[in-house]
Amino acid sequence: MGMRRKLVSGNWKMNGSLATLAELDGIAAAAAAAPNIDVSIAVPFTLIHPAALRVPGLAIGAEDVHDEDAGAHTGCVSAGMVREAGAVFTIAGHSERRADQGENSHDAWAKAAAARRNGLSVILCCGETEAERNAGRAERIVQAQIEKSVPENATADWLTLAYEPRWAIGTGRTPTLDEIAAIHAIAREKLRMMIGDCAADVRILYGGSVVGENAAAILSTENVDGALVGGASLTAAKFVPVIEAAA
Ligand code: PEP
Repeated sequence: MGMRRKLVSGNWKMNGSLATLAELDGIAAAAAAAPNIDVSIAVPFTLIHPAALRVPGLAIGAEDVHDEDAGAHTGCVSAGMVREAGAVFTIAGHSERRADQGENSHDAWAKAAAARRNGLSVILCCGETEAERNAGRAERIVQAQIEKSVPENATADWLTLAYEPRWAIGTGRTPTLDEIAAIHAIAREKLRMMIGDCAADVRILYGGSVVGENAAAILSTENVDGALVGGASLTAAKFVPVIEAAA
């Protein structure tokens, strides 16, 4: 097995303001007190620059980027732009982008490649819907999403995968630890088939209703190398216990 440091990343989604950036102070302090793990947080575009200035020790990221570097795309933001604003990573293929903006795994692939081209690392998301799980198709769906979205030349120094069952995001429901372990094992094997031995070093996060109370159990599950955290990353009071559980 590779030597994988745990990564706990927040995702503020369409939440936050200049005033709530104060939450990052406590989050950055907890991250500094946990030097054995990595902590990062994705924030709305408008908060990237002020967040990066406020907590230089914390890795700030974007929640999405366009797949082209520049051009006639009104309202869109490129990987180079978020990098210039202070982001060091981006999320790609989040299920809310898939649901709200109709993005697919090919779009996630192109966005991941654009991010890499512009010096960002990437948290690439996959995960089945509830109907797909109930139909016994979760494993095949995740395999297919990985197949279509992971860039050919991916390496662990810039790619992180996140398994996020859509029905677990923001719902307070999570799969069982056995179900999480099963998908993470399949995801790692799929990565190995695609990128070879360096798949052992790629971190695979679990995301979906991770909170302080369930984080330790989820994070000690085999092949779970960290967590992608939405709701519980919005305040230091909720996010610090997740960071502490990973450390
Ligand atoms: C997410 O936004 O990726 C997520 C997992 O959200 P939540 O933790 O709120 O379920």
